[in-house]
Amino acid sequence: MSIATNLQRIKEQIPTGVTLVAVSKTHDNNAIMEAYRAGQRIFGENKVQELTQKFDTLPKDIQWHMIGHMQSNKVKYIIPFVSLIHGVDSLKLLQVINKEGQKYQRIIPCLLQVHIAKEETKFGFSPDELLQLSSHTIAELPFVDIQGLMGMATYTDNHLQIKDEFKTLKHLFDQLKAGIFHQSPQFTTLSMGMSDDFRIAIDQGSTMVRVGSSIFGLRDYTT
Ligand SMILES: *Cc1c(COP(=O)(O)O)cnc(C)c1O
Repeated sequence: MSIATNLQRIKEQIPTGVTLVAVSKTHDNNAIMEAYRAGQRIFGENKVQELTQKFDTLPKDIQWHMIGHMQSNKVKYIIPFVSLIHGVDSLKLLQVINKEGQKYQRIIPCLLQVHIAKEETKFGFSPDELLQLSSHTIAELPFVDIQGLMGMATYTDNHLQIKDEFKTLKHLFDQLKAGIFHQSPQFTTLSMGMSDDFRIAIDQGSTMVRVGSSIFGLRDYTT
């Protein structure tokens, strides 16, 4: 199956109003260009170095999303061009992004990553940490634009569990939207759903899905 065909199939399953991020990590420029020629403009990467290399060599109208965990000392490399940072998982990282954004005089769109999975390995804020955020803290970060939340469900075949986790995230999103972000019209993005669970995520209110292997094929981490 070609990348263009895969992309078309995925798009047919995504309602209008839900944004598709094509997760191109580990895949080369040729694969990305195939999706690009089929009309895709939003791509997601999870490593800073790979992201900057691809930005340097691929068409400039691509919107690059950083979807992975990021170390503070790497933030500066993507600040000049990144369209959306999904994986902001600590206040410290927000402060670093704010500082680097200020240097470039660029307000950086961010999503706060929430830890919803039952796994230890997933990064993110706990729901309680976010509910306790103060508007004072947010106001001190003028160079970050918090546009919503991102989360990953537990890696499991148990669809009921995945659904419950996404439901929890959507509920938290609604609470924050009505609470601390009630004067932030741009707080609209709920990034949840990957190849195996994006249909469940959309049913639970996702507005942005991050799909990799169903478009580009399985990733080969051995080369
Ligand atoms: C790799 C990755 C994806 C895409 O995963 P697939 O299962 O290949 O669709 C989505 N989100 C994040 C954060 C990822 O790291």
